[in-house]
Amino acid sequence: MSTQATRTYTDLNPSPRLLLGPGPSMVHPRVLRAMATPPVGHLDPDFLVIMNEIQELLRMVFETTNQLTIPISGTGSAGMEAALCNFIEPGDPILICVNGYFGERMVDMAGRYGAKVHRIDAEWGDVFSASQVEEALRSSKAKIVAIVHAETSTGALQPLEEIAEVAHKHGALLLVDAVTSLGGLPVAVDRVGIDICYSGSQKCLSCPPGLAPITVSPRAEEALRARRSPVANWYLDLTMVQKYWGAERSYHHTAPINMNYALREALRLVAEEGLEARFERHRRNARMLWEGLEELGLTLHVPESRRLPTLTTVRVPDGVDEAAVRRRLLEEYNIEIAGGLGALKGKIWRIGLMGHSSRPENVLTLLGALKWIL
Ligand SMILES: *Cc1c(COP(=O)(O)O)cnc(C)c1O
Repeated sequence: MSTQATRTYTDLNPSPRLLLGPGPSMVHPRVLRAMATPPVGHLDPDFLVIMNEIQELLRMVFETTNQLTIPISGTGSAGMEAALCNFIEPGDPILICVNGYFGERMVDMAGRYGAKVHRIDAEWGDVFSASQVEEALRSSKAKIVAIVHAETSTGALQPLEEIAEVAHKHGALLLVDAVTSLGGLPVAVDRVGIDICYSGSQKCLSCPPGLAPITVSPRAEEALRARRSPVANWYLDLTMVQKYWGAERSYHHTAPINMNYALREALRLVAEEGLEARFERHRRNARMLWEGLEELGLTLHVPESRRLPTLTTVRVPDGVDEAAVRRRLLEEYNIEIAGGLGALKGKIWRIGLMGHSSRPENVLTLLGALKWIL
């Protein structure tokens, strides 16, 4: 018998980080335990019950009665891609509001599906008014208005009610990125009048990354059925995925079984806490963070009136090495926060208090470490 030198690999033992960045957020132990449950088949009667419960729980957190409410297999960007590819046909005019990194990503994706992209831009940290959107709708005749609710790259919270009104007045569908808001602040799909809304599992829902909840209004479903051409993305084609999640239960792709276990448990935690109490917890801990940062002499990037409770952006003081502070937080304190993206690179830190990460003891730990470093 010949012996061959075998390469050994390190044991799986990543550092016990406190995740206070833009996602992933901390995961509740119950969600981790759910993930370790042995998988069953994707058409097992037990799994079908779990699928139904996930859809019911997703409607609860989206605050919607939309029939078509499911988790897309993939991260938040897959949700974004599904939201765009299902409702765009080549040449369709779409209006995209860009005030940060994720609006920019929507422009990139929509262009790849052949949309005629009209964009309006705002400063990174600003939000859009309904009149800006209406003016752009008049000239573009867009069929879809796409906008980010919680811009994770800037920390700005976009009000949606009036924009929903003008979109509908001009016959357009409202498409909303709720990746950093769902489960952390009200999204209220039906009350606001959002037609297409997607999120990600690893931000305010505090589940590991891997699923992207999406919900589609009856009006948008009608638009989907009225398409003249097939959806350009096979994997994310909702007309086919829907048949697996709906009554037909026909195979499309194998659902990531254990991720769905995890999402169901994460959503059950949301239901047990209650939406209102959960939103209040996010607001309370964010206020504590903001006060503490200001006491350290730091300046917050976004005015309080449009500041996200789930993601805070802090200006890096003059003369301070942005990346060195983050490195010390990670190496000496096991705390992860993030730096700026795009136009804000090197200028801000981004601190997430999402889902299970939004706890007073985490705020105090971060403030204490920052005080020591600065
Ligand atoms: C994180 C994020 C995404 C992308 O999600 P991934 O899970 O990284 O693919 C999209 N939009 C916003 C606003 C986000 O914060």
